[in-house]
Amino acid sequence: MNAKPPPALRLGRPERARANAAQARAMLSACRFCAHECGADRQTGPAGLCHAGPQARFFAAQTEVTDELELIPTFAVALNGCDLRCAFCISGADSWNAGASAPFDAGAAARRAVAALDRGARTIMLLGGEPTVHLPAALEFVSLLPADARLVWKTNAHGSVEARPLLDGMFDVWVADLKFGNDTCARSLAQIAHYSAVVRGNLLWAAGRAELIVRHLLMPGHLECCWKPAAQWLASALPGVKTNLRGGFWPAWQSRRHPQLRRPVSAAESAAAWAWAQDLGLNLIP
Ligand code: SF4
Repeated sequence: MNAKPPPALRLGRPERARANAAQARAMLSACRFCAHECGADRQTGPAGLCHAGPQARFFAAQTEVTDELELIPTFAVALNGCDLRCAFCISGADSWNAGASAPFDAGAAARRAVAALDRGARTIMLLGGEPTVHLPAALEFVSLLPADARLVWKTNAHGSVEARPLLDGMFDVWVADLKFGNDTCARSLAQIAHYSAVVRGNLLWAAGRAELIVRHLLMPGHLECCWKPAAQWLASALPGVKTNLRGGFWPAWQSRRHPQLRRPVSAAESAAAWAWAQDLGLNLIP
């Protein structure tokens, strides 16, 4: 006869999210949600590397149709603040500035998300910036959503090991970035250390706990150094994982500071990237 599961495992997702949110809020006084693990006291300051305080803010909450086909229409909530500093960030100041926009009210957002589901949205998505920065608010939001809603965590995959148990079982789908194929480019373009070990570790962890979609945004001049190593790693470490090789790079935000990023991806680069992925047998999302 099977042993009875511990009480925490017998709870439904909303109840577990509520408990996890309370735990996450208690951790704000020595924050280690992301892999910077800077230990900042988010209640009193000074702020950590993401500049976020205790209050989550959001710059968008609306039904969107620009994500993977299997996820749309999705009611997407974008929280301000990020732990990375990607020069090519498409949402720029909204992502970087944790103090901008409107305070996030989990209850009001949940009511809007449920209304969107009633109108035909297939999923509810949390993104940023980087939602890991605001784990307490994100989990409070999850606790107010129907247990059977299909929830998507859209992340840069730079969360800490301490954040993992709080996220375990909270989201049905992880849409996670694998932006860089090496640590040198990650440091140069996003001011991040130990990128590969952290992000690859989190992707491996997430793959065992949720449906995983890995995204890579092709960057001009970064085929050999970023896409090829990323693709090789995916083929060997996560064979069959859904991979979204994204075109559409635009030299936004601070891209001009990096000569290679001052132009879109060329047609030749794009064709080579797809051919490389197909040769490796990646499970590319068309
Ligand atoms: S989310 Fe990351 S950068 Fe922000 S305070 Fe926490 S550990 Fe530091």
